[in-house]
Amino acid sequence: MTEAIKTEKHEFQAEVREVLNLMIHSLYSNREIFLRELVSNASDACDKLRFEALQDEKLLGSNPELKIEIEVDEDAGHIIVRDNGIGMNKDEVIENIGTIARSGTRKFLESMSGDQNPDANLIGQFGVGFYSSFIVADEVTLRSRPAGSGESDGVQWQSDGSGEYTISQIVLPSHGTEVTLHLREDASEFLTSWKVRSLIQKYSDHIGFPICMIKQAEPSDDDDKDAETAVEWEAVNQASALWTLPKTEISGEDYQSFYKHVSHDFEDPLSWAHNRVEGSQNYTSLLYIPSRAPMDMMMQRDERHGLRLYVKRVFIMDAAEQLLPHYLRFVRGVVDSDDLPLNVSRELLQENTLVKKIRSAVVKRSLDLIHRLANKDVEKFNTFWDEFGNVLKEGLAEDTGNSERIAKLLRFSTTAETSAEQRVSLDDYVSRMPEDQEVIWYVTAENRKAAESSPHLEIFRKKGIEVLLMSDRIDEWVMGYFTEFDGKKLRSIAKGDVDLGADDDNKDTEKEKDAEKDPLLKRLSDALADEVTEVRASQRLTESASCLVLSEQEMALHMRRMLEQAGQAMPDSKPVLEVNLDHQLLQQVSEIEAEDQFKDWAALLFEQAVLAEGGQLEDPAGFVQRMNRLMLSAA
Ligand code: ADP
Ligand code: MG
Repeated sequence: MTEAIKTEKHEFQAEVREVLNLMIHSLYSNREIFLRELVSNASDACDKLRFEALQDEKLLGSNPELKIEIEVDEDAGHIIVRDNGIGMNKDEVIENIGTIARSGTRKFLESMSGDQNPDANLIGQFGVGFYSSFIVADEVTLRSRPAGSGESDGVQWQSDGSGEYTISQIVLPSHGTEVTLHLREDASEFLTSWKVRSLIQKYSDHIGFPICMIKQAEPSDDDDKDAETAVEWEAVNQASALWTLPKTEISGEDYQSFYKHVSHDFEDPLSWAHNRVEGSQNYTSLLYIPSRAPMDMMMQRDERHGLRLYVKRVFIMDAAEQLLPHYLRFVRGVVDSDDLPLNVSRELLQENTLVKKIRSAVVKRSLDLIHRLANKDVEKFNTFWDEFGNVLKEGLAEDTGNSERIAKLLRFSTTAETSAEQRVSLDDYVSRMPEDQEVIWYVTAENRKAAESSPHLEIFRKKGIEVLLMSDRIDEWVMGYFTEFDGKKLRSIAKGDVDLGADDDNKDTEKEKDAEKDPLLKRLSDALADEVTEVRASQRLTESASCLVLSEQEMALHMRRMLEQAGQAMPDSKPVLEVNLDHQLLQQVSEIEAEDQFKDWAALLFEQAVLAEGGQLEDPAGFVQRMNRLMLSAA
């Protein structure tokens, strides 16, 4: 039946072997997932053929019921997974199976670059795919024939996973794909029908195609051996697309295993929402929030395991980009529309008004889902926040229409709390604000420590005003878009003037002091003209002698440094230097007459402000010389 007409040998790409080794070792305790992966491929292949057959029914051939068959042959040591889906020709087999370019394993490898140690728990996040067969098999044979082709267009791919594979042209009576695994000796636990059935029920109960296995003969009393009964197949899964069932008929476990099918994730999802919308348009959405972010979450979205779009139960495409904004790229699931045309293309999706409505509903549902976590299950919400908080924040910039709802989900460290784990929402902050406080204050810095010890905080600490501490990379960027919450302005303590309403009787004397010291400020400004735009008396400092301040529109210095290091050209800009006129140093400086010495002191005041803020000195050697001169003169 499958006699080879012509056989060629091919080498695996070098990385494939590497991936295989890694996978076999790191997935050993999870090796049952090979079945989920093969069934998922078979189901994808059926989805694709069903879609193609909308245009050309003949592609379905003589056996139009799309299905997956699994056979277990204990004697031969085989498991066979067969589908009558789209199939592959020789080039496609080489491209899809012989290289890892299209497989989830590629991403895994990429993420392994550098000296990162492979983390066994992470490999599952990448959709390990076809190659997971080799975790349990010492030989894998794939036979395939594209739908719509002739008998002699079959192709056979075979490998023991150690470095080479062969490709042969073969005769195959029907289209579709059949994968035969010859199991390793230590994987014989998978060689029983009931084991395979239980795995199917666990992982693939609700994929939309029947998964059939040969019916087990009932042990019968009259033991009549000569009755060669015909093989009878039966579906072992429910084969009803999960999202089409009424919610009342779906258990939590059903939802979880379906999640693993759509997302290729090992772990249970954190939460999900299943909704049917009926009205001017009809659609169903089933949305999931994973419990762990993939390693490359900050970089890109995973187009292929994101949100799957169906039209009237027919899988159309992965449409995360069309149905989800970038900041919700962690959401997984299914949208099934009754109203979109079946032949909808990617381009069409982009402009379709029905799609736009579905998209905004998906956004709303996703945010609802996260809000529900925040209100009902703090522990899960904290997990969510740790994994996806940084991604969600991008929404403040990307989706201004929803920024109030997103803002309510944000959590911060603040100066008012004691433990680093404590999280404060903006609502918490606002509810604690004294009546006369009009502004929500925050500071952004490179890390938490730098945020906490920022000299700008001094006056806030002294007056007991709570300040949000932000130290995620994207905070500075996001806060540029997020300027108001609940009618209150959000302001950085390191930018612009801070007027915290000094006690009235102090005000006059402070003004007097300013006027009195004016010559000092002028002298300092002149000495530091190359470094700063202005030197002024600080309202912020109580302990430090000086600090740098920016105007409200300017980018924080740590952010600027980061961009410069990344090679971005930044426009010239100079900060303001604020000095604490009550500080003893400043009182001493004001008495220095020698111009050289005064310049040293001025430079040092500037330089310590740069250092306190986490910056680097332009002339460290000069700084050391100035310090030494000063130390010697003091000695
Ligand atoms: P993924 O499914 O994430 O793309 P896999 O390693 O599981 O990664 O599969 C790689 C590719 O091989 C699939 O994208 C598909 O094109 C092809 N493929 C695998 N199994 C089948 C099958 N049963 N029928 C048709 N194509 C298949
Ligand atoms: Mg796959």
